[in-house]
This record gives sequence, structure tokens and C-alpha cells, in this order.
Amino acid sequence: MKRCPYCGYANYDVAQECRRCQSPFRVRAIQAPASRSFLFGPDKAHTLRSKALSLVVLGLMMKVLWGGYGPWPVPDDAALNSVRTLIEPLFLTGGLTAYCTGWILRWI
Ligand SMILES: [Zn+2]
Repeated sequence: MKRCPYCGYANYDVAQECRRCQSPFRVRAIQAPASRSFLFGPDKAHTLRSKALSLVVLGLMMKVLWGGYGPWPVPDDAALNSVRTLIEPLFLTGGLTAYCTGWILRWI
């Protein structure tokens, strides 16, 4: 029951205005979420984290599939292996660093 502040008439709870005097009830303002300005922001940080995660996954796949951890044959080429030993830690550590950075940057 919503009582009219002007005439005291008891209205329905969903009433937008008084049935007797037609005075409108005050509509409670919907609180908008506090918009904060970010230097980096959660959206960009999320994008960075997802890219970093794909780098980590790529590095792990490279390690498992190419590093000789399975029954499958791996290319036994010195040049290819030197490329792998260069790229794999770059992907893994770089991806992890970028992920942690993105985790921190979402508040900044
Ligand atoms: Zn009224």
C-alpha cells in the first residue's frame, strides 16, 4: 500500500500516481554504477589477459608436442630445435608476465 503524501489516500503499491488527486509519486532514482575513469581499464586488461593466455597455451603446446614429451616423433633438426628453445621460454614467461600485468592493470 502506497499512501499519498498530499491527500493521504491509500493507493496500490505499483501506482505511479494517486487515484484520488492524481499527484505523481516520486520515482526513486535508479542508482547508476559509479563510472570510474581508468588509465588502462578492465576491458583492455581482459583483452591483454586473453592474448597472454593464448601465448602461454601456445608455449605449452610447443613444449609438449615438439619437446619430445610424447610417443610421437619430433623433428631432429638443430636449427629448428634452436628456434624452439628460443621461442618456447619467450612464449611461456612472456605470456605469464603479460597475464599477471593484465591482472594488475584492470584496476589502473
Ligand atoms: Zn493523493
